[in-house]
Amino acid sequence: MKLRRTFLKSVLAAFAISAVMPTIGQAKDPLPVVATFSILGDMVSQVGGDHIALTTLVGHDGDAHVYQPTPADARAVSKASVLFVNGLEFEGWIDRLVDASGFKGTRIIATKGIDPIPFEEEGDHDEHGEHAEHGFEWAGVFDLAAGTYKWSFAKVDGDYADPAMKMVVLQSGDIEAAEEKAEALLEADSSDTRRDNDVLVAQDTAYTLTFDKSKDMTVFSVDIKKSGKYAFFTEHMPFEFEANEHFFKDLAGKDVEPIAQEPDTGHHGHGHHHHGTFDPHAWQSVQNAIVYINNITSALSEADPANADTYKQNSEAYIAKLKEVEAEISAAVKALPESSRTVVTSHDAFGYFEKSYGLAFKAPTGISTESEASAADVAKLINQIREEGITAVFVENIADNRLLEQISSETGAQIGGTLYSDALSAPDGPAATYLEMMRYNSQTLSQALGS
Ligand SMILES: [Zn+2]
Repeated sequence: MKLRRTFLKSVLAAFAISAVMPTIGQAKDPLPVVATFSILGDMVSQVGGDHIALTTLVGHDGDAHVYQPTPADARAVSKASVLFVNGLEFEGWIDRLVDASGFKGTRIIATKGIDPIPFEEEGDHDEHGEHAEHGFEWAGVFDLAAGTYKWSFAKVDGDYADPAMKMVVLQSGDIEAAEEKAEALLEADSSDTRRDNDVLVAQDTAYTLTFDKSKDMTVFSVDIKKSGKYAFFTEHMPFEFEANEHFFKDLAGKDVEPIAQEPDTGHHGHGHHHHGTFDPHAWQSVQNAIVYINNITSALSEADPANADTYKQNSEAYIAKLKEVEAEISAAVKALPESSRTVVTSHDAFGYFEKSYGLAFKAPTGISTESEASAADVAKLINQIREEGITAVFVENIADNRLLEQISSETGAQIGGTLYSDALSAPDGPAATYLEMMRYNSQTLSQALGS
């Protein structure tokens, strides 16, 4: 009897649990999301609030350029519905981590839609000159099933980046192998002109694509007759013509990404260093941060439509704060004397700040902390500091600052303070959020350069 009663009790208990379960399921669990580094994590949490459970991989004061993912990172990624990455090859380790984790969610590139700054390393200019001379700025290989695709060119800020451009489409899976032929076609005197809604096919003639000024977007159909790999060579960067969406889609409207491209923007990095990459530090311009926020808002709303209204409200309130900070930064930079507008930092992390707000930044190391400064680069920088009478240099929260300290002592330029380049400070530090970071950097620059 005793046994039976226990059995019954456990059945009842199980029943009680199962009767309660659906209600628990409906009271929604927060959406599991991962952001790769602290600055992006803060932006995601500003939009997601309580409706997301956020894991940030590279924490405060961490260097995402040279990060080594942990098994805990792989577990977090494997459970995530959405993975937010910066892109532009900032997180060189992310593809391996995603593969190892068996991630099944959506990967969102937060920089999608920004105007990336091409970065040329010393000694890399020849190769770039060569590409420009030979008529194409970008090449990409796509693995395509037979069918029709759409390649679009959108107006950005009210106009097309260029009024027309040449393009070559060849059946080939290898950019280098097809390059010579593409160059010859692009340089030839004859080409086929195509306008809005016209059809493109893989052929041995270059197209001249003309963009319809009366429309916000000019769209070409790409007709693929046979499944396989196709190389596209374009006179201008296709990203320059992206407003709100990806330039290449299938008929269902799904983005089609290249399996290889040159220069490589890091969407599908190969883990080794490429020439002619883009500067990944896009967050150093508040305008770009707004693009990040819009990308984050769309991604969260798509993954969790029940809370889309909240995400939209959070996003709008946050963008208003971003605009305030941007106005402060612009005013602070404008107030600086013309004679002290050159800033020296450890690595080249402030290109977007420079482009948006107008200071000139110089660094002994390149866009990644991975590369090492050459003796010649350091000597050149020291000369420049002396010649231009630069009085302050700035250390960074993420970088090894010994070289900068050495430069400071050799030139007599003072250390003007710490700039937060690629990571936030600890929660009790001066740059615990993106807004605080931008404000703090701007104030630090003003204090050191203003006097
Ligand atoms: Zn960096």
